Amino acid sequence: MKIPVAVLGATGSVGQRFVGLLAAHPWFEIRRLVASERSVGKPYAEAVDWMQSTPLPPSVAEIKLARATPEEADGCPLVFSSLDAGVAGAAESAFARAGAVVVSNAKSHRMSRNVPLLVPEVNADHLELAERQDHPGMILTNPNCSTIGLVLALKPLVDAFGVEAVSVVTMQALSGAGLPGVPGMRAVDNVVPFIAGEEEKIESESSKILGRFRRDRIEPADVSVSAHCNRVAVIDGHTQCVSVKMRRPARAEDVRKAWIEFTGEPQELGLPSAPVPPIHWLPEADAPQPRLHRNLGAGMAISVGRLRSCPLLDYRFVTLSHNTVRGAAGGALLVAELAVEKGCLTERSAGTRSRG
Ligand code: NAP
Repeated sequence: MKIPVAVLGATGSVGQRFVGLLAAHPWFEIRRLVASERSVGKPYAEAVDWMQSTPLPPSVAEIKLARATPEEADGCPLVFSSLDAGVAGAAESAFARAGAVVVSNAKSHRMSRNVPLLVPEVNADHLELAERQDHPGMILTNPNCSTIGLVLALKPLVDAFGVEAVSVVTMQALSGAGLPGVPGMRAVDNVVPFIAGEEEKIESESSKILGRFRRDRIEPADVSVSAHCNRVAVIDGHTQCVSVKMRRPARAEDVRKAWIEFTGEPQELGLPSAPVPPIHWLPEADAPQPRLHRNLGAGMAISVGRLRSCPLLDYRFVTLSHNTVRGAAGGALLVAELAVEKGCLTERSAGTRSRG
């Protein structure tokens, strides 16, 4: 029997990805879909402005949209949240108080002391922090979409050589701005060199994720991160130009080897959404590119390329990740799969079903 799940914010950019990915998920099954008052009571197919390139799954078309209150979650032990950040904090806390394991894409709880900020290949051990939360359920968070791609590219370098400083310039896709999205007159023939709060999130979240779990807290990693964020006219896929200063000398061939050989706990556990390999090294002179490489590993793998020495720091490279799959809905599914595998649902939630 599959685990029944609810999706909060199901009509949005990330919510639609959740619906598409969950329709084919081997462990989870959509029971409830939640959106704002404007949509409550309408069948999903009527309320949603479906923007995905795959058809709306027939199994969810007639589900009536519910309010973001735990009473309407119909006993779902697992809740995925892609709510607007303005409402996510309070709603997610209410679901956790009611006993659900909530996996959130919103920024609201990410930096809270007892809330793990998880990229399962990078810091699966931080999951244990959630045991210190004082409600019957649990809040687990998925980082900012650019941060996920960045820390995945950095983790093999942190492990092999140590990383002291990072400078990153992002070129972020339009789908990262939510629906209805950036107006055409601002997006086409343009680069917008500002995304509210994004640079601060990349800088603070990276050191939490790369930090050490010290039984009762995360000790942030001692790495300085400087970010410039830009919105560009790409539908999906965030590209990042990165320069890094290592703590120990590194040969270029060893940097490439660290990426190529990298693997993590989700791959060892064989979790359904774990990409194998998690990182694709691309040797072409002009790779990675969003249109060509964002769907590697079904959108769950990142790609890296253009490794060369840096006259300011030690090395520079380009990395690309799918922002609504790896950077949002797919990343949250992987977090949930890790939580199920580690027994979080059995321990914390009333009404948990075993996975089939
Ligand atoms: P979005 O397209 O604007 O979708 C927001 C969703 O929240 C919609 O389903 C909306 O429902 C619902 N909502 C808004 N106000 C509500 C309320 N008062 N009560 C209940 N539901 C409400 O945004 P998005 O891009 O999917 O982002 C969702 C969250 O994920 C945000 O916190 C964002 O920061 C985060 N995130 C986004 C990305 C990305 O690449 N897009 C990546 C990582 C994280 P209606 O349709 O009924 O208004």
